[in-house]
Amino acid sequence: MSGNLATVSYIGAIILFILSLGGLSNPETSRRGNLYGMVGMTIAVLATVFGPRVTAAGIPWIIGAMVVGGGVGLYAAKVVKMTQMPELVALMHSLVGLAACLVGFASYIDTSIQFTGAEKTIHEVEIYVGILIGAVTFSGSLIAFGKLNGMIGGSPLLLPARHWLNLVGLLVVIWFGGKFISAHSVSDGMMPLLVMTVIALLFGIHMVMAIGGADMPVVVSMLNSYSGWAAAATGFMLSNDLLIVVGALVGSSGAILSYIMCRAMNRNFISVIAGGFGTGGGAPTAPKGEAAQPAGEVVPVSAAETAELLKEAKSVIIVPGYGMAVAQAQHTVYEITKHLREKGVNIRFGIHPVAGRMPGHMNVLLAEAKVPYDIVMEMDELNDDFPDTDVAMVIGANDIVNPAAQDDPTSPIAGMPVLEVWKAKTSIVMKRSMASGYAGVDNPLFYKENNRMLFGDAKKMLDEVLVALKGA
Ligand code: NDP
Repeated sequence: MSGNLATVSYIGAIILFILSLGGLSNPETSRRGNLYGMVGMTIAVLATVFGPRVTAAGIPWIIGAMVVGGGVGLYAAKVVKMTQMPELVALMHSLVGLAACLVGFASYIDTSIQFTGAEKTIHEVEIYVGILIGAVTFSGSLIAFGKLNGMIGGSPLLLPARHWLNLVGLLVVIWFGGKFISAHSVSDGMMPLLVMTVIALLFGIHMVMAIGGADMPVVVSMLNSYSGWAAAATGFMLSNDLLIVVGALVGSSGAILSYIMCRAMNRNFISVIAGGFGTGGGAPTAPKGEAAQPAGEVVPVSAAETAELLKEAKSVIIVPGYGMAVAQAQHTVYEITKHLREKGVNIRFGIHPVAGRMPGHMNVLLAEAKVPYDIVMEMDELNDDFPDTDVAMVIGANDIVNPAAQDDPTSPIAGMPVLEVWKAKTSIVMKRSMASGYAGVDNPLFYKENNRMLFGDAKKMLDEVLVALKGA
């Protein structure tokens, strides 16, 4: 493929990636957005593999690597469950970071292209910054992976003087950067490069370890952004324009998403990155999955009683959470919705921005179950409607409906906006036990007078509710 054709293909791929991002902003156009992304990526890979910079001798290596990588990807896509997607995404971000580090070291060691003067300095700055971002992304994403799949506990690790530690780390990295740029040979520059890499790896670990459970969504989107900047840095090191543009697209869209998440959770972006926000001095969090401290009486109900309450209701709001994803209850939820709508009930869905374990998690599940988009509302759109609602049905959600976020200033989730389900005439919480959610915080909602608990697996219980509804 000639250089010109490769460039034209790159431009075509970039346009498709931009269209893809545009499409992904809305559930109705997201399928098309994905398609644009897939076509763009195919063009990008073909134009790179068969482009002017790859020699014939390199093709078998590339194809071999693609078969291995593609095989692992296909296997992961088949075996990874929907609820494990956030971990998979975190793992993939870590691979982008690792790739940036490896490309950085390889470009530094490779002396086949000799740079001189200002070009040499620019190339070395690209390498230093590229490895720095790559290493932070790599180790931070691995810790995020551990936190998301429960291998590492959700409580923040708050080292004494952690902000000073970060500052000293930054100064040392800048100082070694100077040493690296002024080094006269590869062996002279290797030591500062290695020291910086170790500090960057430690910084990535420290940054994510210091973040409390409820702030993880921001970290996930932030690492998404970092992986984009790591890819852009790789593009600079390899002088590949496509990688620079695509990396910048991912980096900036991830940064915008992090900002949106912060606003949705009423968090300050800098405080979240600095770690431990909202946890210092707050009430201790219960280990995830352990029973919450009792704070009153809970009133359990059966599936039949739940069906009765739904039958008598004129307006219902369903609030889905992570438990609906675990139980794969979305199809039964849809059946219940269809049935109630046919009976003239005004039924809507309230989606919290951080419900589930990844941005848009609930929207994806509800779209898969074919729930009409026009009854799926964002939290802000319907929070004022709860007082006029007969039944608020919480399906496997916990942190996003916790009134402590509003009532208890010492709570680790204090200040986070939540769906005010307790303001409905009756709220019904469906979950298997009294265990806390991801943030490990006790939920006073369970003990409210107008709240009922429907204990059991969400899918099983909703199947029973549906049978009871139809049996009438
Ligand atoms: P939570 O984790 O707060 O609560 C989920 C609840 O679902 C649990 O309390 C659990 O209780 C219940 N559950 C689990 N399995 C089942 C099942 N099979 N049937 C019925 N219930 C079940 O989830 P939310 O969606 O309310 O809140 C999301 C949390 O995740 C927030 O803290 C958010 O910050 C965090 N987070 C979100 C990310 C995102 O991007 N959206 C990313 C990372 C973290 P029990 O065990 O008793 O059944």
